[in-house]
Amino acid sequence: MSKVSGVKGMNDILPGDVEVWQHVERTARELFGRFGYGEVRTPMVEDTALFVRSVGETTDIVGKEMYTFEDKGGRSLSLRPEGTAPAARAYIEHSILNQEPITRWFYMGPMFRYERMKTGRYRQFHQIGAEGYGSKEPAQDVEMMDMVVQLLQKLGLTDVSLNINSLGDDACRPGYQNRLVEYLRAHSSELCADCQVRLEKNPLRVLDCKNERCQQIANAAPNITESLCEPCRAHFAEVQRKLDVLGIKYVVNSRIMRGLDYYTRTTFEFIASHPALGTASTVGGGGRYDKLVKSLGGPDVPAVGFGLGLDRLCLLLKESGQQFSPPVDLFIAAADEGSADVAFGLVSRMRREGLRVEFDTRGGSLKSQMKRADKTGARFTLVLGQNERESGQAQLKPMAGGDAIPVRLEDLASTVREALARPSAPPAS
Ligand code: ATP
Ligand code: MG
Repeated sequence: MSKVSGVKGMNDILPGDVEVWQHVERTARELFGRFGYGEVRTPMVEDTALFVRSVGETTDIVGKEMYTFEDKGGRSLSLRPEGTAPAARAYIEHSILNQEPITRWFYMGPMFRYERMKTGRYRQFHQIGAEGYGSKEPAQDVEMMDMVVQLLQKLGLTDVSLNINSLGDDACRPGYQNRLVEYLRAHSSELCADCQVRLEKNPLRVLDCKNERCQQIANAAPNITESLCEPCRAHFAEVQRKLDVLGIKYVVNSRIMRGLDYYTRTTFEFIASHPALGTASTVGGGGRYDKLVKSLGGPDVPAVGFGLGLDRLCLLLKESGQQFSPPVDLFIAAADEGSADVAFGLVSRMRREGLRVEFDTRGGSLKSQMKRADKTGARFTLVLGQNERESGQAQLKPMAGGDAIPVRLEDLASTVREALARPSAPPAS
């Protein structure tokens, strides 16, 4: 029969890899909780209009990359391409502002974009993100960046640099945009086809085009931070001062535009320099979106957030060579058919006691069971035969070599635990 394949750009995450993912997720959950962020889980599917109105019709995400379909009731729905708009939708729908002036949320889960695939760029990818509603103050922006910095540190990913920028607001961005358009028009024949369109519809986006020639042109473009109005300039200066207060290193990079329409003032990206990511070197980005909630029909509440690419973080972490799969503590083998049930009962009891225990459900010869024990990388093995059953005594054998430890079957769990805690305990293989 012909084989059915998975969908292109959508990956299976198998045991062996999944432990890396679990480690990142666990670390983020624990850390974000410490910062006072609660987890929000929104559906994977939303009304298409949500993304059109927030992310923006002229962005690549909405214009080209969204998985949009009609449901059986004729509604236009889309798989979420990002997490900020769904969170804002939920924030409005549940009238959260009536319940508290400041809200801190985080989320994690799959996002969908129909992109050209390569390393670190998939069609189903995963983000860990956070949103802070209710404060327009730079402290909120910097708290968010601090959270990412601390997460990266906890994961041991130190080779990542924080780039920050300010996109201004309604008072100063239009003036900048005019200056930018004037400059870009003078170079329009050299821009890529996409940027020719962007120039008319969404000129700021030309600045983060990945085309090499467009980047050269962008490099010489007027600098947005020089066009900020006084309140935006002061806000941006305070963001930098507060980063300094926390001792967080950053670079001001006027090219950080972000691919979505809803940003105002602060934007930031975390860029890794590891070759494993190739051109997909941005592990996360975010910024302020003070107008988003209102534009979706909610209250006039300022907000700031970020999204981290979990797939990319995991790629980097795997490169670091750290081991995340917990080792098997104990392998129990039955020496003969008559010991199988007692061995099976012992396995179940040891698992109940909290040990990681393996055995071979296929039974088979002692030799084949021991082969299996080797494969599992178990730290100790115990062979159960007639003698052991009758005497209640057995030998706990360290798989890495060394003396066997005599053990009463009654005390097996505590003896294994003690042996594992000893400094001389066999290492996890
Ligand atoms: P890029 O510039 O790499 O296309 P982006 O600006 O489109 O990123 P955001 O929308 O800001 O990305 O999403 C935040 C993070 O999510 C990115 O920094 C990246 O780590 C991750 N990400 C975005 N798109 C993908 C994808 N297709 N596959 C894997 N990770 C992705
Ligand atoms: Mg993108």
